[in-house]
Amino acid sequence: MAATSGDTPAPPACLFCGIVAGSVPSTSVLDTETCYAFRDIKPAAPVHVLVVPKEHLDSLEAVGSSQVVLLGELVDAIRAVAAKEGIAETGYRVVTNVGEDAGQLVQHLHFHVIGGRSLRWPPKGSEAGG
Ligand code: AMP
Ligand code: ZN
Repeated sequence: MAATSGDTPAPPACLFCGIVAGSVPSTSVLDTETCYAFRDIKPAAPVHVLVVPKEHLDSLEAVGSSQVVLLGELVDAIRAVAAKEGIAETGYRVVTNVGEDAGQLVQHLHFHVIGGRSLRWPPKGSEAGG
């Protein structure tokens, strides 16, 4: 079973739990005690990194006040990724899709960190990076 440290059991076939556990390959960008960041397999921009909690949470809908510390750690990880990828100064977008209408494909909370080029707002069509 994939590594989870929280109360929420991971679904048996959660792709990102597999990536956190190392049973599914990924290109690591950042690895902390509670968060993992890796390159999106289908990048929408020169920099497209996914930041996930190691603990399984389905989406932002599963995050409550008991995860305040974890949320702070995720924000720290997002900023550390931006600094490491050299986009902290030029700017970047952070996106988390929640549920069907948002097009959430992987049911494990993740933040897209997208940058390295000028991004349109609002995003056009299915292009998360705008
Ligand atoms: P979302 O639509 O927000 O659930 O986004 C899921 C993201 O995961 C998409 O951008 C996919 O390209 C990405 N993705 C799917 N499988 C993998 C994988 N094995 N490694 C890295 N990124 C992946
Ligand atoms: Zn998971």
